[in-house]
Amino acid sequence: MADYHTHDDDEPLSGEDRDASIPADVLDAVRTLIRWAGDDPEREGLHDTPGRVARAYREYFKGYAEDPEGHLARTFEEVGGYDEIVLLRDIPFQSHCEHHMAPIIGKCHVAYLPTTRVVGISKLARVVQGYAKRLQVQERLTAEIADAIQHGLHPRGVAVVVEASHACMSARGVLTPGVSMITSRMMGVFREDERSRKEVLALMKIGG
Ligand SMILES: [Zn+2]
Repeated sequence: MADYHTHDDDEPLSGEDRDASIPADVLDAVRTLIRWAGDDPEREGLHDTPGRVARAYREYFKGYAEDPEGHLARTFEEVGGYDEIVLLRDIPFQSHCEHHMAPIIGKCHVAYLPTTRVVGISKLARVVQGYAKRLQVQERLTAEIADAIQHGLHPRGVAVVVEASHACMSARGVLTPGVSMITSRMMGVFREDERSRKEVLALMKIGG
């Protein structure tokens, strides 16, 4: 699995100026947590850590600055008569659980059955990222993605399946690495019609 953290900000910092936009109380909060963990925030190896953590948080939680449904505003009507399922499989995402602020790492499968409007496929991935980059529970993440597609595209059906592992389970508490949680939200024909639901789940390769 890919390393959760990005290391592109690990080069030597140009001192205080890189931290100038980060409020002092945020840096102090990280120092407090380092102390709570049992270490000394003043030791050399941890000196620039509060600034790095603060910038990493901006990235982890950049979804708060977005309107994910807005990514679906631009649609295409010229679909050449295509009226079958559109599916984007294995969209990777990284989120954080709102109970422990621990990573949730997984993938999302998104499908819809268009009426007359389709959207660029990268936009579906952007919707996923927009909700993932917030404090989440997996059930709400799943529902928010489905609801955004329903409101944004008014398709005949929406199916969203999320498979993820939760660091708050694998790295602490009951210590169960390898366990993944699956959540789904079916709307429209995928909720009402069993054949459509089976078809979309087969395309997603879920449930055999
Ligand atoms: Zn948790």
